[in-house]
Amino acid sequence: MDLLNHPHIFKERQNDSFEVINPSTQEALAYIKNTHQQELQNLIQKAKIAQKQWATMLPEDRCDRIYKFYSLILENRDFLAEIMTKEQGKPLEQAKSEITYAASFVKWFATEARRVDGDILSPKAKTQKLLTLKQPIGVCAAITPWNFPSSMITRKIAPALASGCAIIVKSASQTPLSAYALEILAKEAGILENCFIVVNGDSTEISDVLCQSNDIKKLSFTGSTEVGRLLYQKCAPTIKKLSLELGGNAPFIVFDDANLEEAVNGIMDSKFRNSGQTCVCANRIYVQSGIYDKICEALIEKIQTLKIGDGLESGVNQGPLIDEKALLKVEEHISDALNRGAKLVIGGKRHHLGGNFFQPTLLKDVTQQMKVAKEETFGPLAPLFRFESEEEALFFANDTEFGLAAYFFTQDYKRQWRVAESLEYGMIGINTGLISNEVAPFGGIKQSGLGREGSKYGIEEYLELKYLCLNL
Ligand code: NAP
Repeated sequence: MDLLNHPHIFKERQNDSFEVINPSTQEALAYIKNTHQQELQNLIQKAKIAQKQWATMLPEDRCDRIYKFYSLILENRDFLAEIMTKEQGKPLEQAKSEITYAASFVKWFATEARRVDGDILSPKAKTQKLLTLKQPIGVCAAITPWNFPSSMITRKIAPALASGCAIIVKSASQTPLSAYALEILAKEAGILENCFIVVNGDSTEISDVLCQSNDIKKLSFTGSTEVGRLLYQKCAPTIKKLSLELGGNAPFIVFDDANLEEAVNGIMDSKFRNSGQTCVCANRIYVQSGIYDKICEALIEKIQTLKIGDGLESGVNQGPLIDEKALLKVEEHISDALNRGAKLVIGGKRHHLGGNFFQPTLLKDVTQQMKVAKEETFGPLAPLFRFESEEEALFFANDTEFGLAAYFFTQDYKRQWRVAESLEYGMIGINTGLISNEVAPFGGIKQSGLGREGSKYGIEEYLELKYLCLNL
């Protein structure tokens, strides 16, 4: 695949384009054309025409084309992963895993395309037939983040296409190449032209057009709670259907009766994957006092084995952070915690490699009063909090406006159920730090969002339910 054949991607700087930068080397990878208001309005009209045609195809035909798209993603896995590592920074093995994860949504929803069934309901009179139909909502829009440049797109476009919708995606400015590569493969797979369109440019200009358009029937957004709140307001005048996958502040609780080795592996998986830049990553690690010192020691050992560097180098498992703003946020959380009495155990500084690299960091004696307890760090900082009782752990864990993911480790089966029911989160990992897959409903409660992606529930977000009352 030659990305430079795409009309929005240039090798050299052009008028009205923006730069894509490798966060590891700071080199310019490509330049991307800005899409403006009038062009976007035209694209919405094209998508509207294409959607009508796409929706009238037999579900089996849509299924076959989406399945072909899945196969092409896997065939191009190495290429797609390399682009992702270059523009996002994550180590190549993690990028390959993300491509497999991204493809899993396409495969899942390809087959869901054949199961969009209505119901026949029990009538209220002998002459009645009561039915429900499920119909595609129409042309949808998606705005996606940079931390999972492919899977956050496929998790939206696959159910949209499966249900018979068209979708316009504005990808994150840091990672547009992964988005355009998916668009090229979808076309090759036979997804009708203009049913999946990628645009980039000024996020305010693009989101204004998408949110104000009466022809866009739904917006699906993944990103920060701050921007999600803004888009919620912008969609109010047209009463658009909304899916919001927003920020998290995940608690990770380790009880005294946990399997220590498994708990430490769980913390490493959850905290340091993608250098801590995941919405479901452990942000607050609560450890019961009886096991606190042992967990701290075990984490020091594990953190020392992490290899930091350019994601394309073999053996590297910690890439750079996305940009300077991300580094400043990690530094702010560390200095705030230290000023309020936390202790630095390991790391704490920018890495000697320079650029966007930061040392994996462990803090202990962290408390609820510190910034890291209240805000998502989105970086490689593991803060250890101490607790005494189950009630105290639950109080601390739920003491936040976020409700995306939570984790806990315990071998007491009664506690597993009790704690899972009491945690105010959309997704709970019990004795595991890895929870995401295409089969499970992904999403949060409280200010972490609205709606669910993936799973048998995900397609409903792109469908309207119509009721028919037939009098014979
Ligand atoms: P972000 O700043 O909210 O950006 C996300 C997307 O919104 C990007 O495409 C961005 O475009 C666009 N955007 C930014 N400002 C906008 C505005 N004023 N109006 C309209 N669009 C705007 O978030 P991020 O830094 O990319 O991603 C990290 C956040 O995403 C974290 O909070 C993380 O927890 C969350 N996240 C949540 C999930 C989930 O499933 N719940 C998954 C992944 C990430 P530009 O790139 O052009 O600025």
